[in-house]
Amino acid sequence: MRQAMRIHAIIVAAGAGFRAGGGVPKQYRAVAGQPLLRHAVERLLGHPAITGVSVVINPECRALYDAAVAGLALPEPITGGATRQESVLAGLEALAADLPDIVLVHDAARAFVPDAVIDALVAAFDDDVDGACPALPQIDSLRRGEGGRYSDSVDRDSLWRVQTPQAFRTPAILAAHRAAASGATDEVAIALAAGLRVAITPGDERAFKVTEPADFAKAEAMTTYSSRAASGFDVHKFGPGTHVWLCGVKVPHDHGLIGHSDADAGLHALTDALLGTIAAGDIGDHFPPSDDRWRGAASDQFLAHAAHLVRERGGRIDHVDVTLICERPKVGPHRDAMRARIAEILGLGIDRVSVKATTTEKLGFTGRQEGIAAQAMASVRLPEQDA
Ligand code: MG
Repeated sequence: MRQAMRIHAIIVAAGAGFRAGGGVPKQYRAVAGQPLLRHAVERLLGHPAITGVSVVINPECRALYDAAVAGLALPEPITGGATRQESVLAGLEALAADLPDIVLVHDAARAFVPDAVIDALVAAFDDDVDGACPALPQIDSLRRGEGGRYSDSVDRDSLWRVQTPQAFRTPAILAAHRAAASGATDEVAIALAAGLRVAITPGDERAFKVTEPADFAKAEAMTTYSSRAASGFDVHKFGPGTHVWLCGVKVPHDHGLIGHSDADAGLHALTDALLGTIAAGDIGDHFPPSDDRWRGAASDQFLAHAAHLVRERGGRIDHVDVTLICERPKVGPHRDAMRARIAEILGLGIDRVSVKATTTEKLGFTGRQEGIAAQAMASVRLPEQDA
């Protein structure tokens, strides 16, 4: 029976919660490189049992919403109401023409729900219940108190810390919502008021609600990162001139290097390596030689752009390493200036930047001093969006 169930998730993201800081409603604030809402949507969209996801938003935040979910397979967002209850009802009414069997109602602020929480919700419908809701047991002792003095204790064994998503047979919760008085805090309250039976299923600490500024740090700390390493390679040919640019440093030489930009093979190889870590194409895709804007351009901006793209994905640059391949000019005297310049462009400590040099024993085009080659490696850590 379960295979046949159509399970739809409604994510409520219509709130204007600025309490968490960051200058935008918290569901649009970034954690590990992407907005909280996108984490929430990706979790639910990625669960194999869920057949569709819709999001209820405040239309004033439409531009933030569009940016947050760009590229994800979502229907038009639903316009929310003045309260959470009204927003959920709007989400349910939007399904009314073609009701799924089960609907999950979820808060965008609980962005990191593990799959097991959803598995348990779905499994609960094997029993004869109208709904299911994840919860965690109350671990701390509970005690009443007034006027600065404790009074009697409270039996914690019967108390639960309720989370979302909350799952219901869709016709039952839609009818309950339509009939509900205002002021309900969640769907369990509405379901119980309507006499529905709601199962308690296992919650998870990772499904905590991001509310306060410190919660963003907690969410960030929960993020797991995976390592990526990529290489880059570049060659430029010698021509007339009095200096070359290598790794962002002007090095006096009896030739120059020919290229559309400043022909800094070291920075070009490193730019390609960084782009490689996020599979973002190569330097020619981002700065086409056909574009006159890059004629004679200083190559530090290419490298800075690649670093920006890595950081935009929530990435951290761990280490970069460049090898310059030439007979002349001698790199050794400039090596530390090159490391310092790359460290400055990338915003890294100099201990994370390596520059090396080698010759090719007078063999090949570098040996004949026809040009300079450079190869580079970059290693970064990127957040696991679906860990
Ligand atoms: Mg180049």
